[in-house]
Amino acid sequence: MREDERRMTAARYYGPGSLRIEEAPVPEPEADQVLIRLELCGICGTDVHEYVEGPIFSPTEARPDPLTGERPPVGFGHEFVGRVVARGESATRIPLGARVAVEPRRTCGECEACRGGYRNCCPSAATIGLQGGGGGIAEFIAVDERLAFDVGGIPARTAVAIEPIAVAVHAVSRAGVPIEGETALVAGAGPIGALVAWVLRAMGAAEVVVVEPGARRREAARRFGATRTIDPGGTDVRAQLTAWGIAPRLAFDCAGHAATLQTCIEAVRPRGVVVNVAISARPAEVHFLPVTTKEVTLLGTICYADDHPTAIRLLQERDFPTDDFLTAVYPMERTVEAIETLRTRAGDHMKIAIDVGGAG
Ligand SMILES: [Zn+2]
Ligand SMILES: [Zn+2]
Repeated sequence: MREDERRMTAARYYGPGSLRIEEAPVPEPEADQVLIRLELCGICGTDVHEYVEGPIFSPTEARPDPLTGERPPVGFGHEFVGRVVARGESATRIPLGARVAVEPRRTCGECEACRGGYRNCCPSAATIGLQGGGGGIAEFIAVDERLAFDVGGIPARTAVAIEPIAVAVHAVSRAGVPIEGETALVAGAGPIGALVAWVLRAMGAAEVVVVEPGARRREAARRFGATRTIDPGGTDVRAQLTAWGIAPRLAFDCAGHAATLQTCIEAVRPRGVVVNVAISARPAEVHFLPVTTKEVTLLGTICYADDHPTAIRLLQERDFPTDDFLTAVYPMERTVEAIETLRTRAGDHMKIAIDVGGAG
């Protein structure tokens, strides 16, 4: 039987509230692609938004994806890990059987951003698992070999964190300063905030203060390397930092509210750097005067471009609190339940992953 005649089980997104676990053809790798037997796929906030109020990024019948040309249904899930089980004829870098994590973004390759080395800002970038190209909640996916990275001996339960760690690595790299010995503030200790704290510490930051209203998340942040935590509900952040004698050079807004952006702007020392990591579609009203008087640098960050190797290296070199990160694993047929759990009880979870069966 030919590869393209084989069938698999996959999650496919049809539109808001419509995600089906159904049969789909097993993709056939193109010449420069690898076929991956998937093991685990994490669900991220973007997936929850897409499911509940989409299509935000996904194509519609009237609006096929400009890069992939795909229409619904599209594959779902972009934080995936699995093993290479077949290769196109020119895909020879990654050995068969290797466990890989994938940078799940396809880009045009021709625009200024793509040619300039920051393809993550490509205007036509299309996320695999949202905008076509298959998805991670499936038995198989075929991806360009250049987007796949051998994770070595990192177990799947930890490797499923590589994609969001790459987001954190990129956010930290945007600050543009050596991290060794630095002092940083992280506002918000959801999955990305916790990982930004972990990456900062893994890169040698001396002090990482995490500001987070949720008690459980504050507690978890410690295990990701936070040296101190502040509950902004009961404490004035600036007064507490002053009492500790801490004036952070770097601040990362991982919550995406006007208040957290304001906290970051006010917390940094003169000529400090504020990186806005959280995605917010709403306008934020902030007092800008401290940006002026302290000459604060305010930066954006989106996804990653070749940050996966750094994420993998950090995981190989440093302890990672896998059990604090991966708080639940659901089977594929319960994907919608997993999304609903994240929607309604996000504070109880860091990351939920879908076990797509490839591990056993
Ligand atoms: Zn994501
Ligand atoms: Zn481009």
